[in-house]
Amino acid sequence: SLKPGCTEHKSTCCYCGVGCGVSVQKDALGRLLVEGEMGHPVNDGQLCSKGMNLHYTVNDVSDRLHYPLMRYAKNQPRIRVSWESAMQRTAAVFKSLIAQYGPESVAFYASGQCLTEEYYVINKLIKGFIGSNNIDTNSRLCMSSAVVGYKMSLGEDSVPVSYADIDLADVILVAGANPAWCHPILWRRVEAAKARNPDLKIIVSDPRKTQTCAIADVHLQVNPGTDIVLHHAIGRLLIEMDAVDHTFIRDHAEGYEAYRTSVLLRSVEESALICGVSLAKITQAASYIAGAKSYMSMWTMGLNQSAVGVNKNLSLINLNLITGQIGRPGAGPLSLTGQPNAMGGREVGGLSNLLPAHRDLLNPAHRAEVEQFWGVPAGSIAAKPGLSATEMFQALDDGTLKAVWIICTNPLTSMPNVRQVEAGLKKAKFVVVQEISNKAETLEYADVVFPAAAWAEKEGTMTNAERRISHLPKIVNAPGEALPDAEIICRFAQEMGYQGFDFENASAIYSEHAQLTAGTHIDVSGLNYATLTKNRTVQWPYPAGSTGAGTSRLFTNRVFYTPSGKAQIQSVSDENTSEKCSEEFPFILNTGRIRDQWHTMSKTGKVNKLKQHMGESFVEVHPDDAAFLRIQEGSLVEVKNQRGCVRVKAKLSDDLKRGCVFMPMHWGKIAGRDDNRVNNLTSSLVDPKSKEPDFKFAAVSVQAF
Ligand code: SF4
Repeated sequence: SLKPGCTEHKSTCCYCGVGCGVSVQKDALGRLLVEGEMGHPVNDGQLCSKGMNLHYTVNDVSDRLHYPLMRYAKNQPRIRVSWESAMQRTAAVFKSLIAQYGPESVAFYASGQCLTEEYYVINKLIKGFIGSNNIDTNSRLCMSSAVVGYKMSLGEDSVPVSYADIDLADVILVAGANPAWCHPILWRRVEAAKARNPDLKIIVSDPRKTQTCAIADVHLQVNPGTDIVLHHAIGRLLIEMDAVDHTFIRDHAEGYEAYRTSVLLRSVEESALICGVSLAKITQAASYIAGAKSYMSMWTMGLNQSAVGVNKNLSLINLNLITGQIGRPGAGPLSLTGQPNAMGGREVGGLSNLLPAHRDLLNPAHRAEVEQFWGVPAGSIAAKPGLSATEMFQALDDGTLKAVWIICTNPLTSMPNVRQVEAGLKKAKFVVVQEISNKAETLEYADVVFPAAAWAEKEGTMTNAERRISHLPKIVNAPGEALPDAEIICRFAQEMGYQGFDFENASAIYSEHAQLTAGTHIDVSGLNYATLTKNRTVQWPYPAGSTGAGTSRLFTNRVFYTPSGKAQIQSVSDENTSEKCSEEFPFILNTGRIRDQWHTMSKTGKVNKLKQHMGESFVEVHPDDAAFLRIQEGSLVEVKNQRGCVRVKAKLSDDLKRGCVFMPMHWGKIAGRDDNRVNNLTSSLVDPKSKEPDFKFAAVSVQAF
């Protein structure tokens, strides 16, 4: 209930892609209190530990950047400057680099936490006006394999289902994900569904026995990197059990015969051996799916963050397609989004190979449509895809990229093989950092620092993992001179002399984005801030003239977004191309989130309560491996490979397999020491189709220190 003297505001949690609604009370001093929003379709009043503590991150401004900083030479200190001087200098440097080295010499590296309006203006600026496609975001590290998987199988990057389908499913397969920790409120919905209906079968496939396994009917504890072999074995069993929907395949899919041939190449017995899972468990999982009236699959980074991430996605989606489990209540694939607005970013084309509204950068007609809409001359949008996240920092390192503008992300903790990122930033001619926190490691390399407004200090929209768009109001003023990210970009664009960035407010940016989607599969031309505020949330598509809450389920007519209208059952190799273990580096390092921290901890790291769960980095080691290596619980361990090393305490756990170790992704440099940072060790290897890095598989040595 509303406390005396407070005002109430509705917003959305800015952490994971579940997209929980929050009710924010602001007191007379401008302090916020966040609670779960009752009646919200995602969370109905619930919040996880991170969401519950969100207000602390806004109320505590002790670590915030308050005004622009700049240095005139690399060896000079950064000093406080006015917005005008920082903008003028940045525009002058960008103009001079573009004139001397071409538009591809500059790049923007942004974030899945950016609001849709922010993505939109960054994308418009670089693609439409600067003339390069060098805009990538940390969504590349998170969802790009799922994007390509959806495109190849369903024709577009379109999540077919809603969370409400969880309540209607009778079998759910969770692959390479720990939603109990990483998407907690979504998982509570699964737990509630299971409590209501004990016949709901939960299958979990994961190399680790995580909290998610607590309600699993079967846990397929696969060897790292063998997911495709497992999915193929299940596919083969479904064929042998006659559980294939031949009518769906005949009328609505293509590629089944080639798929059938490919999965029959390996016996299920051989697959079981490769996966390290018993034949009985694989058969049990396959019979659950075979008997399902409504089968859903869920996955996240265990499949996406892989050198074969796209193939892993396709092999999982194939199980929905061969059984016709899509476009019906309680059936379909649901990729769990890591970040709050990774999907909103994709809607506006915020990756180096995309165009707005799921248009294709390589399609000249699509480029022409966008050029015309933006009012730029034909040919302004370059045909060549820009640099992906990892390529950007490699290009800084080899000198082909001269300047990078980093927005709302901390690549010095989150990028794989992070020493290469350091090397790149050291060599960069010009680095702009647009940030909220004065603790971000990137600041050390910044020539210009733009202080940004944080969550609740700016207005915009986000889209969650089930295509649900919500409006986030500005509730408090940003500290000092900090500005909303979209405003910073628009000011810069105008300083560069570009037309089309004089938006009156965030609402005007959203309306322009919405108009650009008209006629596409993600048409939201019926949406504006007034509709969004009135309806609270809306699921796309929502074309002009729509009413109500939007589209809860896609492909109900079984017509897909492919040229033939049919879903594509893609045959893929089951080979894992991750780096190989060796005598020198015999362990497989897996990385991931812990329950109470978010990404690189610039927000959750400020909240004491959230540090109680796990307050420092660690490495999980199997007790048998630990005994062999003479490592005890809590003893200092060195984990090492050719890229770097870390020294952290050991946690002994038989939740992982022998030969595997696990480290959390969150810790970066602490007090100048970087030996907590797991990305010293991860590899630069990426999936060739999605360019998503292989965070889940690095060969390392482990020894007592
Ligand atoms: Fe926020 Fe995700 Fe937790 Fe919901 S589940 S409160 S969106 S972090």
